[in-house]
Parts: sequence; structure tokens; C-alpha cells
Amino acid sequence: MKHPEPGNRALGFTPGRRMQFMMDPRHDPYQARRKPRGELVCPDCKLVCREGRWQHGVPDPHAHTEHCPACRRIADRYAAGTLTIEGPFAYEHRADVLQTARHVAEQMQAEHPLQRIMDIEALDGRVTITTTDIHLVQAIGKALHHAYGGNLHYGFAEGQYQLRVDWAA
Ligand SMILES: [Zn+2]
Repeated sequence: MKHPEPGNRALGFTPGRRMQFMMDPRHDPYQARRKPRGELVCPDCKLVCREGRWQHGVPDPHAHTEHCPACRRIADRYAAGTLTIEGPFAYEHRADVLQTARHVAEQMQAEHPLQRIMDIEALDGRVTITTTDIHLVQAIGKALHHAYGGNLHYGFAEGQYQLRVDWAA
């Protein structure tokens, strides 16, 4: 299955009503449309799905095996969130910046185990972080902006459950 590149059709965007619409979890194609019957267990991350909610836990012996939405995105290499980090300050302080980003991810993942960092790639002074969820990428961008200032910019891919956040400092 071919997916559009997150950045190609991204439009400049400031958080607002449209963002609320985009962040409605019903629009995530990786989320189940209906609650499954019985329990599911993800063979990769071992999360258990009870009544439609994936969480840490010990699975029922009769649980069916099914990959969770986060592991399916990771397998498809299809990120929901993409954060780019650029600029001389960010480059000079990249260790601190990445530590802040990872800290936010750990905190969010503790409560929302489907919200994970997929990859962190550094190339030509720019760092790109991809995530399995649009809330996480937004939270990391906000945390960096709050901690270090700089410019924060949001973009969304038209008609897609994808959020792109650019932070430059
Ligand atoms: Zn999983």
C-alpha cells in the first residue's frame, strides 16, 4: 500500500478548530472502527486490548492475537506524526533537545502506550522524529518550544490523519 509523503501536501497551519477535527481519534485509520469481541493481545509489544482500549496487562488465556495500531504503523513505517528540528541553537544543544523529546515521549507513553516515537534520524543538521500518534508529536513540539523558545509551526496533510510539526531555534 502506497502512502503519500507526510510533507508533500502539508499546508501551513496554526492550531484551531480544524486541528480539533484532525485530532479526533475516529479519523485515525489504524484505530479499530468497532470494539472487538473478547480480548486481544499484540504479539510484538504484548499490550492487551480490552473493550477497545490497548493497555499494559496480563492477557486472558483465550485472548486472540492481533497487532496493536502502534505496532502496525511501525511495521508499515507509516508515521502519524513527524517533527523536524532545525536551527543553530537546536544543533548546538541537540543532546538536551533530544533528551527533552524522549522525556515527553516516556511520560505520554506511560499513560497512553500507543503513543510512541518510531524513529529519530539526524541528517545535515536536521533531526526528524516520527511518532505513531499525532498527540505525541504535538506534545514534543510544544515542550521544545516551551523549554527553548524558537519557532513552532504545524502542518497537516489534507485528508490524512497526519500532523507535521516543525520547530526551529
Ligand atoms: Zn503492539
